[in-house]
Order: sequence, then C-alpha cells, then structure tokens
Amino acid sequence: MKFAYDLHMHSALSACSDNEMTPNNIVNMAILKELDIIAVTDHNSAENIEAVIKCSEGSDILVAPGMEIETMEEIHVVCLFPGIGQVNKMQEIVYKALPSLKNREDIFGRQIIYDENDDEKGVVDKLLLTAVNFSIDDLKKYVDELNGVIIPAHVDRSSYSVISNLGSVPENLNLKYLEISKKADLQNLIRNNPEVMNYKLIKSSDAHSLADISERESFIDIEEKSIQCLISKIKNG
Ligand SMILES: [Zn+2]
Ligand SMILES: [Zn+2]
Repeated sequence: MKFAYDLHMHSALSACSDNEMTPNNIVNMAILKELDIIAVTDHNSAENIEAVIKCSEGSDILVAPGMEIETMEEIHVVCLFPGIGQVNKMQEIVYKALPSLKNREDIFGRQIIYDENDDEKGVVDKLLLTAVNFSIDDLKKYVDELNGVIIPAHVDRSSYSVISNLGSVPENLNLKYLEISKKADLQNLIRNNPEVMNYKLIKSSDAHSLADISERESFIDIEEKSIQCLISKIKNG
C-alpha cells in the first residue's frame, strides 16, 4: 500500500524553527494535509517526540521517532527509530558527543520542550545546532545497533549534505535511500552526481513552519502503516 509521508520537519525545539511548531499544531496540520506518516526530526535532539506521539494517539497519523543529526563532517542525517526508547538512547549518545556550548537564545532562538498539551516544559540549554564529535560511519553503527535507519538529508544542497561535503555517498554505508529537498532540481543533481540514480529517493519538507509541511505528494509503498515496515523498507529498499 502507498502511504503519504513527510519524514523531515522541525518542532520549536530546533532554534531555527517557528514557535508555532508545537506537538499539537504539527499533528493537526499533518491531519489537515491528509498525510499518513510523519517524522519530527529536530537537530540533535528528540525532546519533543514523546509529546508528538501522544498528540497523534487516536488519529490516523503514524509518527516515526526521529532526529536530524549533524555528524563531525557537518553532514545532516535523518535518523528514524522503532520506538521512543531507542530515540532517547540515541539522544543520550548525541548529547555526550556535542560540544559543551550553551545556546544563545538572542542569536539562534529558543529550543522549546513542550508537553502533549503544548505547554512549555522548559528549554534545552545546550547548543543543538552544531556538529557531534563522531563520523557518519559511527552514526550508522549506533543507529543500526538501535534497529533504526539513516537517510542522508537534502543531498541536493550545497552544504550540510553528504555529497557536498564528501563528494559522494560512501558505499560502505550500504544505503538504499537518500533524501532530496522539496525544491530539489533532480535533473541537475543527477547530471552532476550520476550515482544518485543507484538510490531510491525520499522527498520531505524539512519544514520549519506549519505551512511548509508537505502536502499529500510523496508516497512510500509498504505492506502496512507501521514503523517496523517503514524502517525495514528504507533499510532494504
Ligand atoms: Zn538539515
Ligand atoms: Zn532539517
């Protein structure tokens, strides 16, 4: 069956995101847009995932626990996990691997943690929008151990992408899917990087505001609407 997805968007926990990106607003917008599966993928943190999942309960929206991790090569990678326990374990690993810098709210914005009623629980002090001290190879190992899957993010972009930063997608990562951004010029990407044709492509919004969440436009063909099926499809192609 084909399911409409948007597997890359940021809640207000990402400093660069609008404060309107609360758990309830995200889920309600996904319902309005008639999406089937979403993933909230904040920069180097998963503090709002549990609230988003709680908001989705009772609706038809499936929320895959996720994060967008920035590796030491400054590559952005969307990571999806089978459950809240695994994404929280990854968050522990990431928090230990971030430099001990404090967020400057006046420059970067607030990193807001919400509960399932969209009430503020607090803010993350640590600067999240920066690179961890491990490589994309290490990231793949960590995520594999947690039975998750990695998708190199916005590979068409000229920065923070595996292709822009490494020149190509390392074959040893053994990936089946890459993510392209909403406005990707696919012909141009393939002309410059023919290797992209060896992969299946995920197109997500990378939304930082409600209006930017995808319409019902990108679909993935999986047996049933479950996180297990989603992860196994992205892992195995
Ligand atoms: Zn990114
Ligand atoms: Zn992003």
